Amino acid sequence: MPRIITIANQKGGVGKTTTAVNLAASLAAAERRTLLIDVDPQGNAGSALGIARDEVEASVYEALLDGVPLADVVRKTELKFLDLAPASRHLVGAELELADVSGRERRLADAVAAIASEYEYVLIDCPPSLGLLTLNGLVAAQGVIIPLQCEYFALEGLADVLRTIDLVKEQANPGLLVDGIVLTMHAANNLAQQVEDEIRKHFRREVFKTVIPRNVRLSESPSHGKPILLYDVASKGCQSYLELAREVVKRADRLGKAA
Ligand code: ADP
Ligand code: MG
Repeated sequence: MPRIITIANQKGGVGKTTTAVNLAASLAAAERRTLLIDVDPQGNAGSALGIARDEVEASVYEALLDGVPLADVVRKTELKFLDLAPASRHLVGAELELADVSGRERRLADAVAAIASEYEYVLIDCPPSLGLLTLNGLVAAQGVIIPLQCEYFALEGLADVLRTIDLVKEQANPGLLVDGIVLTMHAANNLAQQVEDEIRKHFRREVFKTVIPRNVRLSESPSHGKPILLYDVASKGCQSYLELAREVVKRADRLGKAA
């Protein structure tokens, strides 16, 4: 069985998609068979991997609502070990349409279960809300990675995600773990350092050692339709995601052995 990890934070622009894409690419570079599932209607993960939302025929929407097998939605990417289940515009309506179907919060979990054996890692990129799509991501996963931007209000937003994770644990997915909090877009200034210190004090174990720096190469690579690995492997941004992947693998291996 793969390790299924959802990347969630209801705040937009904190580095969810950048983390999902580049962590997935880094795992794939280590020859771990990886599937990235994009449940954000904006479809940024797909475009960051060179698959435009408008050219997608079957998407995660059809897998969630029309019973199309996820395997039929999956596309190959430029990286041999990385596949993508792309989003589409239709997902915009999915929050509402899902509200009326039975087992509405388990749709993604069921879809993933059918192809889980093909992969070692499944990463799920969520939209910036705590609605039904993110809920599906949390119910389908074993672990959550929470990207957090090192800014003044970071901790407030974090409380909301953690509360939602607790609810999901109580009601739908008791085994769900916070795999880790990853500090993103870290700027070399005092405020970022203070926020980092504060977060590490509150959440000792959960915070990944690896910090993702603010790095312009990371913000450029999506417009080239490439993960940072295929755009600028020597950049600080790329090296930090490779390091994060090593930490994620170490944690997953440890959890696997404990299970
Ligand atoms: P989210 O998915 O949480 O909305 P994104 O990953 O799309 O956030 O990031 C928001 C914006 O910040 C994007 O334009 C992205 O390219 C940029 N960005 C993300 N991480 C970094 C980073 N470490 N350094 C510089 N720019 C970044
Ligand atoms: Mg995003």
